[in-house]
Amino acid sequence: MEENNHSDNNDLSTGRRRFIQYGIASMAIASTTHVALARRDGTNVSSEPEELATDLTTDVDVVVVGGGTAGTVAAIQAGRAGAKTLLLERSGQLGGMTTVGGVCYPGLFDAWGKQIIAGIGWELVKESVELDGGTLPNFAKVPKAHHHNQVIINQFVYSILAEEKCVDAGVEIAYHEFIQNAKATADGWELNCAGFGTNRRVRCKQIVDCTGGAEVVGLLGYKRMREDETQPGSYLFQLGGEHPVGRKQLHQIYVHGADSTNSRTVTEAKLAGRNLVLKKLRQAKGKKRLMHLQPEPGFRESYRIVGETVITVNDYTSGRKFDDAICNAFYPVDLHTKNGVRPKPLKPGTVPTIPLRSLIPKGSKNIIVAGRCLSSDRLANSGLRVQAPCMAMGQAAAATAALAAKKKVTPLDVPLAEIHQLLAKHDAIIPGKE
Ligand SMILES: Cc1cc2nc3c(=O)[nH]c(=O)nc-3n(C[C@H](O)[C@H](O)[C@H](O)COP(=O)(O)OP(=O)(O)OC[C@H]3O[C@@H](n4cnc5c(N)ncnc54)[C@H](O)[C@@H]3O)c2cc1C
Repeated sequence: MEENNHSDNNDLSTGRRRFIQYGIASMAIASTTHVALARRDGTNVSSEPEELATDLTTDVDVVVVGGGTAGTVAAIQAGRAGAKTLLLERSGQLGGMTTVGGVCYPGLFDAWGKQIIAGIGWELVKESVELDGGTLPNFAKVPKAHHHNQVIINQFVYSILAEEKCVDAGVEIAYHEFIQNAKATADGWELNCAGFGTNRRVRCKQIVDCTGGAEVVGLLGYKRMREDETQPGSYLFQLGGEHPVGRKQLHQIYVHGADSTNSRTVTEAKLAGRNLVLKKLRQAKGKKRLMHLQPEPGFRESYRIVGETVITVNDYTSGRKFDDAICNAFYPVDLHTKNGVRPKPLKPGTVPTIPLRSLIPKGSKNIIVAGRCLSSDRLANSGLRVQAPCMAMGQAAAATAALAAKKKVTPLDVPLAEIHQLLAKHDAIIPGKE
């Protein structure tokens, strides 16, 4: 049986597997020889760092930092718009909260009986559902509860499909890499990036920060905001019964204080979340098995940028139509606290919009953000942070960055009509033109 499965592979993949095996074997021999030599002549292996580091320089138009919910869409849009694009993602796969966090039920693409968000995010969601043999919600029907129209997707299908679309759009993906430091140049940025065994200098015209917590914006010293109290994170898992991937949501447990700010706080959240799952397993006394555990906890809230415009909860709940709106959003005000969550639905007919200026750090040049870190007060953010608007922001931010790179201007100076035109060309829905 095992043999048969293997013979399903075509010659190319068999050849590639052999190549990888031989490659690994010769690498193993080389490193053994290296260690043996090093020992014989008394040289300390670690004194030869040039054997470990790869130094390279990459010149691009746009760097997207963070290949999560917003960043994946951003990279595809930048690439498809003809910008030479590099995507830096510190983990090893695309999708962020949608896949690594296990929140694989993006919403909301519709409001009040019609689709209000489409474009590249929707293309990815729709295709991954179709490829997985799933069903899409009927947006013509107004659901009883908002979450009924969230789209349940297969996180594994989504992440590999996203990868394929990035590659097809000409995006260079750099997993396990992040920016160490950055400096402004006459026409953009010079970044020093690091991954294991990799030192990369990147020269780019525009940065799209999609790190969730606006990490690049923080690194560059632009203002960010966050309150002392933040919403709890959640760890996603499945205890008892197999998890039907792409058909049902996972179990969730709150991780209070979960903070995505840095590797130390993320480690703390991971340890705390996994410990809670272990406790649940112990409580089950062998009657339930742990069938699924995500690699990362889900983080709901950390830093938001202080942008050229700050979206207030009044703007959000009144469905303000901003002059520089670049996409729609739709979700209840949804603030999780120590005691849980009580979503406050928007009034019938209300569809909030997201202005371009809420994606631009105040006083900045050549940088734009997308995702949950957009400039908004805490309550507005509790609704704006969901995945469909994050994807729409990713597309809009990248379209703006690609145009800015081409025109050699900063994002704020790109004419709005040109951004709308490019977005419409790539199937996004422009507010007021649904
Ligand atoms: C438990 C939970 C339940 C939720 N429920 C829903 C729901 O029902 N429906 C819904 O639509 N939304 C839901 N959300 C909200 C939504 O999932 C997130 O707000 C959204 O996915 C955030 O997208 P993002 O692109 O801003 O960030 P992320 O998806 O987190 O992406 C950030 C990416 O940046 C990478 N990164 C971070 N720092 C760096 C760096 N320095 N260098 C390189 N890469 C970096 C990360 O690895 C990650 O891939 C939920 C969130 C949580 C936590």
